[in-house]
Amino acid sequence: MIIQNVRITPVAVPDIPLLNCKGVHQSVFLRSVIELVTDTGIVGLGETYGAKRTLAGLRESADALIGLDPFHLNDLRSRVVQALPAGGGVNAPTAVADHQLVDVVSSAFEVACMDIQGKLLDRSVSDLLGGAVRRQVPFSAYLFFKFGRLAGHAEDDRWGEVRTPDALVEEARTLYRENGFKSLKLKGGVLEPDLEIETMFKLREAFPHHPLRIDPNGVWTVDTAIRIGKALDGVLEYLEDPVLGIDGMAAVAREVPMPLATNLAVIEFEHLPDSIAKNAVQVVLSDHHYWGGLRASKHLARLCQAFGLGLSMHSNSHLGISLAAMTHLAASTPNLNYDCDTHYPWMDTDVVTGGKRAFRDGALTVPDGPGLGVELDHDKLTELNTLYEASGVTDRDDTNEIQKYIPGYVRKVPRW
Ligand SMILES: [Mg+2]
Repeated sequence: MIIQNVRITPVAVPDIPLLNCKGVHQSVFLRSVIELVTDTGIVGLGETYGAKRTLAGLRESADALIGLDPFHLNDLRSRVVQALPAGGGVNAPTAVADHQLVDVVSSAFEVACMDIQGKLLDRSVSDLLGGAVRRQVPFSAYLFFKFGRLAGHAEDDRWGEVRTPDALVEEARTLYRENGFKSLKLKGGVLEPDLEIETMFKLREAFPHHPLRIDPNGVWTVDTAIRIGKALDGVLEYLEDPVLGIDGMAAVAREVPMPLATNLAVIEFEHLPDSIAKNAVQVVLSDHHYWGGLRASKHLARLCQAFGLGLSMHSNSHLGISLAAMTHLAASTPNLNYDCDTHYPWMDTDVVTGGKRAFRDGALTVPDGPGLGVELDHDKLTELNTLYEASGVTDRDDTNEIQKYIPGYVRKVPRW
């Protein structure tokens, strides 16, 4: 069995104005949908970022996959490395964290190859990863401050404006009512620190038994982070990326009572030795999209276990192919100690047949069926590709976007 054809389709998915320390989400988020077509007719699905660096990397590597045996994942990696000069460089130069393009591209293709393997063998991807240790994979509610409506729109979206602690608690109640999430994560770094502390206390009051997290994406100074960490003693299960860099995280970790988590300071295997030596982070957020794939993420899990680190899972805005891959990975990773992040509840559409998946009691059932257990809705793919072409958006730029709402807005890191 060999790969005969590689289809890469960029899509734009309608989004809403969720705030973060960089700015605000654009009216669409971008993804790339991958179809690997084999000579047997089996088609493997993958999904990853859709910004132009990723898309170019996928397209530059596509020809090198022709003739590949989808079981030869080491060969896949070598072919991608050779196709991308100098490892392809970083994936997103404007992002806070710079993922290696070679990891991003090979990961997306690896997922599609494992989808093919599963379909051939009539086994799920989680079976290929060692078998599910849990049938239900729990996710956390991802809470955002937000503007009421997209720039240029006349009416609020159904969530309305959320820019106060009380409004955020109301948003959490709605997400909980609709999805049953058992833990809550706030995207922080948006309001002044004292308002975000107040928000966490109000969440604690409204949800006395839910584990809570806050993630300001490294926008606080070390002193501010220590002050906030001490103020939230007993409130947080972990504090995510309060500051940037391993040395900054280590300085905060020495002073605050709760574990520090990261998807910014430790994003490659090569970052682990320094972080472990300095005890900079206690929980690593895995993400198969940039850690190098599903199997590499399992490797990360074993290293976390060996070094006594907790393991959680990071998310960007994504569709149902990524959601299925994340669910299979989480189901087959015994020491995934925390509920996974996902942006999925914030959108209203999907490219998989059957449409948007529903959470029950905050969890998803591991998809049945061979491979990833999802199929592509080709009409929806065409619709979202048409939106991509019409939108003119080719990169994510939250800072540029927020200037439509707040003229002259300047991004500062750290801000507080
Ligand atoms: Mg994060």
